[in-house]
Amino acid sequence: MKSQTITIVGGGITGLSAAFFAQRAMPDAQITVLESSELWGGVLQTESTEGYLIEHSADMFTTDPESAIQICEHLGKTDELLQTIPIDDRAYVATEDTIHPVPRGLSLMLPSDLESILATPLLSEAAKDRFQAEEQIAPNDWIQDESLLSFATRRFGREVYETLIQPLVGGIYTADPEKLSMQATMARFVAMEKQHGSLIQAGRVARGKAIQREASGARYGMFRAPKQGISELIRWIMESLPKVDFQINSSVESVAKVDAGWQVTTVGSDSKAVQKLETEGLVLATSAKISGRLLQSVDGELAKDLAKIEAASSAVVILGIDREQLGQEFSGYGIIVPSILNRDVIATSFGSNKFAGRAPDGKVLIRCFIGGALRRELVDLDDKKLVEMAIEELRLTVGFQGKPELTRVIRWRNCMPQYHLGHRDLVDGIEALTTNHQGLELAGNSYRGVGIPACIESGAKAVERLIAE
Ligand SMILES: Cc1cc2nc3c(=O)[nH]c(=O)nc-3n(C[C@H](O)[C@H](O)[C@H](O)COP(=O)(O)OP(=O)(O)OC[C@H]3O[C@@H](n4cnc5c(N)ncnc54)[C@H](O)[C@@H]3O)c2cc1C
Repeated sequence: MKSQTITIVGGGITGLSAAFFAQRAMPDAQITVLESSELWGGVLQTESTEGYLIEHSADMFTTDPESAIQICEHLGKTDELLQTIPIDDRAYVATEDTIHPVPRGLSLMLPSDLESILATPLLSEAAKDRFQAEEQIAPNDWIQDESLLSFATRRFGREVYETLIQPLVGGIYTADPEKLSMQATMARFVAMEKQHGSLIQAGRVARGKAIQREASGARYGMFRAPKQGISELIRWIMESLPKVDFQINSSVESVAKVDAGWQVTTVGSDSKAVQKLETEGLVLATSAKISGRLLQSVDGELAKDLAKIEAASSAVVILGIDREQLGQEFSGYGIIVPSILNRDVIATSFGSNKFAGRAPDGKVLIRCFIGGALRRELVDLDDKKLVEMAIEELRLTVGFQGKPELTRVIRWRNCMPQYHLGHRDLVDGIEALTTNHQGLELAGNSYRGVGIPACIESGAKAVERLIAE
């Protein structure tokens, strides 16, 4: 690139990471980030009120893959990160009338502590027998892609799937398990099945490695969050980029190819101030649907494929309560709710049990997730009804009585991409079509991972490809 102009559309973690990596690789480049809303960070928003530190969406990131922790290292901010409060039983599963801890050592579908699974009151004896038979089930070498429902029931049986695996995975992807692609979301379990013959055997190997790591003194805490909330990550990245032109209230309405590269047309918040920018490199860090719309007149086929990537909506009901209003002491990070129970809440997260400084002394910060791919109609209910649903769930699970002192309802519409069967092939095809357009890159949570680390990596890779061109 001669003049080195790069325009990034979307000021979420993906777009801002792209700006970060572009600035590092090309210190003299002219970089512009365009964000349609009045806030930076996309879905990552922290609110501080009445002594509570409230996360509107993500409240932490994993250190594996390493891209999120690495960007904090580059920014010199690792001292500003908190680890989760250490406790033994982190996640609980709801039953009709109570809750039980998720068996220890069960990492989604990787069981590294068989005794704990065989001892759990959550499963019947028949389900435990079926679970143990997993070692005898041959790997599936012939199916290209498989749904979560198919993979998990094939390996562990229906009851283990319904009681443990569906709610554990559902809490992350808010997805329809009959459509959720194993290859696109949990390929590591498919690989383990092939490599070790069974996930129980893979769990033994993983446990052996964990014991070795512990013996060597290494400490592996998986999750981190900035002390002052996840929005800090956004602020740190932006503050490290003084030369970047950040424009909020700048909605990109169209993009078009021109001789020098790309022309980007934006409108301001009053729908009047129209701006036309010319740029050599263009990174669309918006959802696949929005990127598809922007590329409609550039490449119809690409736009059509992008439109195939659906997204689910969810509501987050946030409650601040008095610890004494709980019928029982609860120190877990959260409670997942199996969909066979037909309840309204998918999962409950106890923010003040995960990280220090999230609620005033004696108070508890709780977030209930409602909606998702299976119950999308619930997101449109009014705030009062959604708060009632959250309170009812807390009554059933932790004996909550009374009224919360703080309530918030946040709706995220079409913000959680759904990686359906065949998603990986679809994305391979989208990336191949994108290479027909010099200077164009797509990045974001619609493609190869929804977590914060995957989004950061997606921004980094988009910039790498631009530079390689
Ligand atoms: C409720 C919830 C909980 C989550 N919890 C976790 C968690 O605990 N840990 C974790 O790692 N991940 C979590 N995630 C996932 C993760 O937070 C997201 O996948 C990630 O933040 C998405 O970042 P992004 O930049 O790709 O997209 P977004 O954050 O959606 O950003 C896209 C940006 O593009 C802007 N935009 C759209 N159209 C235009 C346009 N035409 N012109 C200009 N700008 C435009 C939007 O306004 C937005 O700011 C959660 C997500 C949700 C919704």
